[in-house]
Amino acid sequence: MASKDTKFIFITGGVVSSLGKGLASAALGACLQARGYKVRLRKLDPYLNVDPGTMSPIQHGEVFVTDDGAETDLDLGHYERFTGVAARQGDNVTTGRIYSEVLAKERRGDYLGATVQVIPHVTDMIKEFIGSYAGEEDFMLCEIGGTVGDIESLPFLEAIRQFRNEVGAARSLFMHCTLLPYIPTAGELKTKPTQHSVKELLSVGIQPDILLCRADRDIPEGERRKIAQFCNVKPSRVIAGLDVDTIYRVPISYHNEGLDREVLSYFGLPYESEPDLSLWEEIAQRVREPEGTVRVGFVGKYVSLPDAYKSIIEALNHGGIANRVKVSLEWVDAEEVESTEDLAGMLGQYNALLVGPGFGVRGSEGKIRAARYARENKLPYLGICFGMQMAVIEAARNLVGLEGASSTEFGPCDNPVVGLMTEWSKGNRVERRDGKSDLGGTMRLGAYECVLQPGSQVREIYGKDMISERHRHRYEVNVNYREAFEKAGLRFSGMSPDGVLPEIVEYPDHPWFVGVQFHPELKSKPFDPHPLFTSFVKAALDQSRLV
Ligand code: GLN
Repeated sequence: MASKDTKFIFITGGVVSSLGKGLASAALGACLQARGYKVRLRKLDPYLNVDPGTMSPIQHGEVFVTDDGAETDLDLGHYERFTGVAARQGDNVTTGRIYSEVLAKERRGDYLGATVQVIPHVTDMIKEFIGSYAGEEDFMLCEIGGTVGDIESLPFLEAIRQFRNEVGAARSLFMHCTLLPYIPTAGELKTKPTQHSVKELLSVGIQPDILLCRADRDIPEGERRKIAQFCNVKPSRVIAGLDVDTIYRVPISYHNEGLDREVLSYFGLPYESEPDLSLWEEIAQRVREPEGTVRVGFVGKYVSLPDAYKSIIEALNHGGIANRVKVSLEWVDAEEVESTEDLAGMLGQYNALLVGPGFGVRGSEGKIRAARYARENKLPYLGICFGMQMAVIEAARNLVGLEGASSTEFGPCDNPVVGLMTEWSKGNRVERRDGKSDLGGTMRLGAYECVLQPGSQVREIYGKDMISERHRHRYEVNVNYREAFEKAGLRFSGMSPDGVLPEIVEYPDHPWFVGVQFHPELKSKPFDPHPLFTSFVKAALDQSRLV
């Protein structure tokens, strides 16, 4: 169980999904941090997958990978981007993981003959997770996924109800996010769905302490009082969560509405002094008043679902913030690139191209075509993970002249320039895989070091010789082809420290063409934009000045 002092804030959601609970949690974390408190954020997800790693991005959005190699919910990306606190394996748990641990304990005989039940065994496991290695933090913010009223989130709600009873109200706070829909014919924000949602929470024994009500306009005093009265919350603790122009204004907006003040007042902590939010002011101001625009074409498969590439989108925005420009991200369907007869018409309008992560053969030829177009037309190109692998296949076929060059991810081929990784080292351990390994949690995951070659463009961009970046891949550029590639002009400018795994490729005679095997987007923050994205957006800006 947690140390004596950490305070727990539980964030639930009601009325509808997609309310921005994750962002609200992250923004509250940022406000508390700005007041000098140490925070950590956690997410409890009610679905049955052990982690989101095996889920399609169409279902679940991006998988956010932590340094310690956990595949987690994309909300953990928001948490990191707003607080800079690196998430850990233990910061995201699902019903699937809870059950798999309870069942493993049962098989071991740890329950000593007891009938294993949701209460207390599953709820105990959830509570253990909530309090696990909390210690140094002043505040632990735990977001409960899903919407109150769902069958699957009931054990989590029961667990936080018990948790509150055990640690007491002085150390725990329930914040509930709801929606106040505006009905134009009535000219009013409606409070009834919020009242019902709070009733639903009360039925499982939880009385919210703070209500964060999402609304597209200010909440009139009368409505605020009505919500307070019906929901048994102080009027000052009915907070308006207003729509804002950029997500990076959310901490300022929620602070102005009194969110962090009410949290501190609830816990009896001093709240009179103002936190320093100037960092967020500066970021929001740069987003609001860019000095120019660059157009980046994003060639991908899941172009209909931007959440699938959440961190990349944000990292590009950060690159824009660093260069004081707006990055206009435009989706290009890889399958359309594959079949178009007018490639220049489709891709020539952009100032840069980005080919992102991907799995499977569908759309891959389009990505390969895009890489060739960028190389031949000196268009800045950033290839991330799959995007690097496709650029390498392109070079193999069209520069090195290797017939049938491809990735074994797509089946056997004559020249497997990208192949399945069967062995690699992690610290002093050796990880081994084969074609029959489970799909869940078996990729090369998490932070690995990479050595940058002196004199290379990436060495210049990073300004150091050794970097650490997060990975999530099963295939790798085959190092045996290195010499052939380098002769043809594609430099292997970043390698794993043992020299076995190619991590970065670049063309020295191209204005900006970099492929990286890792995911730099996962470490970018609005207040600390990732150097690769800053440099890429700068290259796009330079390109825009040429035309
Ligand atoms: N499918 C490729 C691999 O597993 C790329 C993965 C990715 O882009 N994250 O290596």
